[in-house]
Formats: sequence, structure tokens, C-alpha cells
Amino acid sequence: MRSEVEIAELAIKGMDCADCALHIEQALGQLPGVERVEVLLAAERATIAYDASKVSLPQMVRVVEELGYRVGEGDRSRKPPLAGLLGTAFLVAVALLILVEMVAERLGLLEAVLGRIPAPIAIAAVLIGGYPIFMKVYQGLRSRKVTAHALMTIGILGALSIRQFESAALIVFFMRFADFLEGFTTERSRAAIKELVKLTPKVAWLKGEEGEREVPIEEIRPGNIVVVKPGERIPVDGRVVAGSAAVDQAPLTGESMPAEKGVGDEVLAASICQAGSLQIETMRVGADTSFGRIVKLVEEAEASKAPVQRFADRFTAYYIPVVLAAAAVTYLVSRNPVAAVAVLLVACACAIAIATPMVVVASVGSAARKGILIKGGLYLEALAKVDTLLMDKTGTLTFGEPRVTEVLALNGFQEERVLMLAAIAERFSEHPLASALVKEARSRHLALEEPESFSVLAGRGVQARSNGALIRVGSPRFLEEEGINIPDQARALASAFEGEGQTTLLVAQDSQLAGLIAVADQLRPEVPQAMTQLRALGIRELTLITGDSERVASRLASRLEVGYRAQMLPHEKIQEVRRLQALGRKVAMVGDGINDAPALAAADVGIAMGVAGTEVALEAADVALMRDDWLQVPEAIRIGRRAFATIKENLALSVLYNVIGIALASLGILSPVLAAAGQSLPDVAIMLNSAKLLRSPRS
Ligand code: ADP
Ligand code: MG
Repeated sequence: MRSEVEIAELAIKGMDCADCALHIEQALGQLPGVERVEVLLAAERATIAYDASKVSLPQMVRVVEELGYRVGEGDRSRKPPLAGLLGTAFLVAVALLILVEMVAERLGLLEAVLGRIPAPIAIAAVLIGGYPIFMKVYQGLRSRKVTAHALMTIGILGALSIRQFESAALIVFFMRFADFLEGFTTERSRAAIKELVKLTPKVAWLKGEEGEREVPIEEIRPGNIVVVKPGERIPVDGRVVAGSAAVDQAPLTGESMPAEKGVGDEVLAASICQAGSLQIETMRVGADTSFGRIVKLVEEAEASKAPVQRFADRFTAYYIPVVLAAAAVTYLVSRNPVAAVAVLLVACACAIAIATPMVVVASVGSAARKGILIKGGLYLEALAKVDTLLMDKTGTLTFGEPRVTEVLALNGFQEERVLMLAAIAERFSEHPLASALVKEARSRHLALEEPESFSVLAGRGVQARSNGALIRVGSPRFLEEEGINIPDQARALASAFEGEGQTTLLVAQDSQLAGLIAVADQLRPEVPQAMTQLRALGIRELTLITGDSERVASRLASRLEVGYRAQMLPHEKIQEVRRLQALGRKVAMVGDGINDAPALAAADVGIAMGVAGTEVALEAADVALMRDDWLQVPEAIRIGRRAFATIKENLALSVLYNVIGIALASLGILSPVLAAAGQSLPDVAIMLNSAKLLRSPRS
């Protein structure tokens, strides 16, 4: 029997640190028939690829629940049960009394004020208050996992066994406090993502026979007409069929300048209809919309781990045995059980576990709000390390909306005929140059028949057959390769246009050169400033890499003060990326996805321009810029660098804390209670250190 792999998505509640996600991932991964598991902490979701003939969904749900987490949407309010609340209150009260008692003891007022807390009460506080922790440890052990909480539990048992009941109660209190803080911290780092999700449209005004009615977004189907009123959020991706309005696309692009939209224009879900109202024919709804996909990509970004995270994972794996050994050695050498217990309690593996994901989630989330879509922690680190930037020309550095500036006929052809031949051949090409030719021909009212056959030679040109004639349009190099005779006069004209920075296309009918068409495209105005910023960031090499001619490339390159490689076919662009990588460079490639998607994929980071609404580029790139703004390129690099620096700081901080803490504890300098109290310090430090990524300064 052939086995079918199915994909299931589980909503999981109750994960409060990356350790938990890892834990669930491993437990599910051990089930027979489970092929792939991905647990997303920030999205609170697990994606499982499994063989339905070997394992069932309820089985998987049970495994997750046995670990102590909840599955399913169920009750969204995370209300802890009353008993748990009372237990926590009891623990807090006892802990506070013990703290008061300690202070009183210091001041010599103990007998006068209240006396000691009776041992049974302290023990009760340990058992009741520590119950949630003990349960987690127990559930972990049942699936043969020793968690960080297990170390602390051994520490508590140790404290109880040497009759330090009050210390044990305080330790439990501080542990619970650290857990609480950790949950709070992870919540906080999700803030940017949550804000994004909040923008997801939930209802729409559906236009029907008798007026409009408000319906949940799930009921809208492609083809339905929805009505959007002033100030409302556009609920679907679609085409305007009536009305006009100023539309603010900031949620998608980070650009708050509204754009005027009228009949025939495409609009995207989650953008805001400002002045005016619209009727929209629905094309895509919900998760299929551009916005829906952005949200999904951002949520999933956490899963592709930065390579530094692997260091953290390895560290955590060795951590527990090392700490246990350190505690044992402490006891054997010093015979001081208190010091051994303190070693167990100072250990704080969770800080190391959250150091990276916190930063990834916060950075990816806040970048998304600016219109920069980073598809994972992996690319944050790659962005940080970029030292070489390759950039495509047409559609990337330029607007990609070229205009025909000159049509010259040769060999006795008519000018109109040259343009018509070219436009017929280009009718089905999606290249920006093609649309320029077609547009020009239409504006001169030339009749364009459909070619009988048509093929694209990427980076070279096109060829088509029409009325029995073979038409070829493309770069001079292409036509030359095809064996067309190019007279010196044509060569001179071509290089004159190219000297002015205009792309020159030759047109041939069968084996005869028919003419020459010059096309000019405009440089995006912010490019020079972006180059200045990239140089200031210390990018070693900036290189224009284009399929266009030598002269066009060199002219643009010298204007931008960057290097260039001209006449590069798509596969040569990849080779150039590989060549630089072999030299040890970290290469970023900026492109528009037309003719350069393979190079985007080969680069360490592929950055695609202007992808709002175009699916190919959104899928192909590692970093997608939702609006055509070159200043977003240096900004993305800055975001990467800041994130990577913060990750390193966080990791250094947690490792240092643990090393110093364990040293002090084993020397008997740190009491168990202080050790437990210190637990939250690295978490708080990491939270504060990572929070700066959420309020990123505009540069
Ligand atoms: P870039 O690398 O600047 O984005 P391309 O690789 O898309 O440019 O194209 C390189 C060259 O190939 C163009 O300058 C043009 O001469 C030729 N070419 C590509 N596609 C076409 C087309 N559809 N029609 C005519 N010429 C084309
Ligand atoms: Mg291009």
C-alpha cells in the first residue's frame, strides 16, 4: 500500500518559552509515521507532516496534551482555574511573610513581631505553589525528557532534605515568578506580529440584490462584489468595478502616502479606503490575499532558524548534564549540600533558549510593519553579514517602464513596419521592454495580429512567427549570434544610443535586419542616496549585473559609482553569484524576479523589489520589499545587523550569567534563595535588550 503524507495544523496553547516548542517538536517527532514537525512559538501552532496509515490526529493531540499543553482554539481566554489561582496566592503570601521575617531577623525584631513561619506551612506552600512546575517535570519525564525545570525541582528537593523549608518556599516563589516573566517576555516579542494580525479584515459588506449586508469574511467568494465605505479597511484582493478613492496601503507596504484608485485598478486587502468609496470584485480572500500570505510568512519566519540558534540548541543539550555534574562535584569537594543546591538553582537554561527567537520574532515583526518582509532568522543573520551587493538593472534600478525613444528603419523597411513587426513578436512577452514596444505601437494605432508561434530567449530577446515570416527582436549580440548581418551603419547607431544610456533593440525579419529601436528607462530617483547609504554601511562591493549592453551598463555604473558586469545571461548571473561566494563573499542580490529569479535564489540573500501583489517575486525572494523604494535595501541590512548584534549580546549575557552564577554558587558564596531569585535577571535583561528592536528608529 502506498502511504499518503498528510499535513495537519494544530493550534497549541500554553507554550511559554522556546524550550517548550522544542519539547513538543521532539515528542511528536518520535511518533511512528510523523515525518516532519514544525512548532511555532509565536504563532502558537504546530505543522505536522504525517503518514495517516501509521498515526492519527487524535494520537498526536494526546501526545501534546500529555506534555501539559492545550490543543485547539477551545477557550481562547487563558483563565487559569480557580484552584491554581488560590494556590498561587497562598505561595505569594507565604513568600512575602518569609521575606518580612528575614528582614525582621536582620533587625533583631523577630521575636517581638511575629515569630517564625511554622515548617508545615512552608512545606505546604512548596507543594501547592510548586504543583504546576512539578507537573511539567513529571510530564517531561514520562516522555523521557529532562527539562530545565527538573534541575530546579532537584534543587527544591535538596533544600527540603536539608530542612531549609523557608528557602524551599522562596525558591518555588522565584521560579514561578521567572516563569511568569518569561511568558510575559515572549508575549511582548509577539507584539509586532499580533498588531499585524489584528489588521486582518474580518467582515465585509457584500453587495446583493437588495442592498448590502455585513457578512463574515469567510462567506465571501471570488467574484462577489464587496462595498467599501470611507475609512474602512478593504476586505479582499480585487478589482475596482465602481467608485474611486484614495487608498492607504501602509499595512502592506509601510508607505502611508495614499494612492488614487479607480475603476479597473487592483486593490489589496488590509489597505484602507480613505476618501471616497469603492465597489470591488473579489479576486482573493483571506489567507490567499497578499496580506494573508505576508502574515503567514511572518509567522513562519521564526521557524527558519538563524545559524547562531544552533549554537544555542547545542548548548541547551549539554547544559543539564553539565550542571548536574557541577552540583555533584561541588558536593563531593566541599561537602556543602547548600552550595550544591545553589548550583542547581542558579542554572538558567531558558534564557539561552529565548535569546535568539525573541530577537527573530521582534525583528521580523517590526520589519514587516515597514514593508520589509524577511522570511526567517536565517536571513537576518545573512543580511547582517552581507559584504557584496549585486543589482539587476531593468525593473530594479530603473522603473521598468521603459519608453520607446527612437525607431529607425534599415534595408528599405518602413519605420511603422519595423515597430509593428517588433510589437507583434513581443505581444506575449512579459518583459518590460516588450510592453514598451507594444504600448508605442498601440499609441500609433498599428494593428497587432497574434503571432502563430512565440518563444522567449531569456536575457537575449524573443522570436515569433507571423504570416510565414520569422521575426526576431533582441540585443545586437543576440541577432548577431543568430547569423543576421549587421551593417556598420547600424552598429554605429546602436553604440551612439547606448552611449546615451538607452537600450537598443534590433529587429529582423527572416535573415534581414529591418531596423533599430531605442528604448529609455528611468533610474529610480532614490537610488543614488541608497548607494551612499550602502557604502556608509561598509558594503565592500556594489555591482550592477545586467543583460543590457556594455555601454549602457558602464554609463549607469559610472553615474552610480559602482562596478558593473554587462551582457549577462540569466545563467551567467548565477555563475557570478557563485564565483563571489567561492571567494568567501556574502552575496546579496537585488532583483525584480524577471530573468533573475535563479540568481536571487543562489545568493545568500535574495532581495526582491516591489512585490506587493506579484506572487512570483514574493515566493522567490528571501527578503521581499513591499514597495519600490531602494532605501529599503540599506534599511534591511541595518535591521539584520541590529538583530544579529542583539542575538550575540543576548547569548553572551546568558552564558556569562550562567558561568559566573555556577562559579559563585559552587564556592558557597551564593545562597540557594539568592540563586533562585537571580533566575529572572537574565530573562529581564534579554527582554529589555530585545525590546529596542520593536521601537526601531527611522533612519
Ligand atoms: P536586466 O539584466 O537589465 O534586467 P534582461 O536580462 O532582462 O536585463 O535583458 C537583457 C537584454 O536582453 C536586454 O537589454 C535586451 O537587449 C534583451 N532582451 C531581453 N528580453 C527581451 C525582449 N523581450 N525583447 C527584446 N529584447 C530583450
Ligand atoms: Mg530584470
